[in-house]
Parts: sequence; C-alpha cells; structure tokens
Amino acid sequence: MINSEKKHHIGYITNGINLDHIPCGNAWYIIKILNLQGKQNQIGVGLNLPSKKIGLKDLIKIENRTLTQDEIDAISLFCVDASLSVIQDFAVIKKHTIELPPLIQNIIICPNGRCISHKHISKFITTTNRHNKINVTCHYCEQIFFLEEIKSYNI
Ligand SMILES: [Zn+2]
Repeated sequence: MINSEKKHHIGYITNGINLDHIPCGNAWYIIKILNLQGKQNQIGVGLNLPSKKIGLKDLIKIENRTLTQDEIDAISLFCVDASLSVIQDFAVIKKHTIELPPLIQNIIICPNGRCISHKHISKFITTTNRHNKINVTCHYCEQIFFLEEIKSYNI
C-alpha cells in the first residue's frame, strides 16, 4: 500500500530539517519568524497538502539549518503538534513533536483593545483546558482566550 503522504516530496534534504504537519496557512508565519527569506539555505515549502492527521497541512524543509530551542518556542504557536525531523545524510536522526512553551512573549497582540500590554512586550501564559483546547492568558489584563481566537501577531 502506498502512503499518500509520501507522495509529496518537496525536494529531498541532505542535511537540515523537515517541519511537517503545520496547520494549513501557517507556513508563512514560520518563514517570517525564522527570517528565512533572502538567506542562502535552500528551502522547500509545501502548502495545502492533504494530511490524514489534520486535513490540510503545510510543510517546510530547510537545507543546512537546525533550530534552537528559542526558535522552536517562537514558531510553536503556529505549529503545535507539528513534527520536526532533523536530517543528516538523508537519514532522520531526531524527530520530535512541537509543544507550546508555558510562556509566549512578544508575538501575540492582546485582542483586548484597552489592554496595557500594547505598550509593552506582550506575555501570554499557555494552558490546555480539559477539552484539550489551548488557552492563552494575557499576563497584563488576565483575560483568557482560545488560541484560535488570536488573529493579530507582532511579526
Ligand atoms: Zn491583555
């Protein structure tokens, strides 16, 4: 049997990383946060690919690049549960699932228009509620939002 997800080869990677199962539409945020445009690394981007796991997905492959934990934390908002594979000589040597850090700084713009965070570096505490939905709580106004309600980002 052919695994349908294996058909989508956006170029092979010799050494580098493969970030797969990014929710559809979020690849651009990640490219922006990692500041990948205009760099020397070869990058393969797949958009709106079918995924059995999440319906439609994006994926990003970057040649000759690894990600620091700070970079992973910075992009995690846009790819929770995505899989990050580290590739060396065509082989996957490490694979892990992206998780949200407990605190996200500077990326989310608080939806509360009167929040004082707009004058500071925003800070949001991440939690998962009992229905397994991700909540983010503003450190300044203490309002709680669903992650999917957040539409404005400082990137
Ligand atoms: Zn706020």
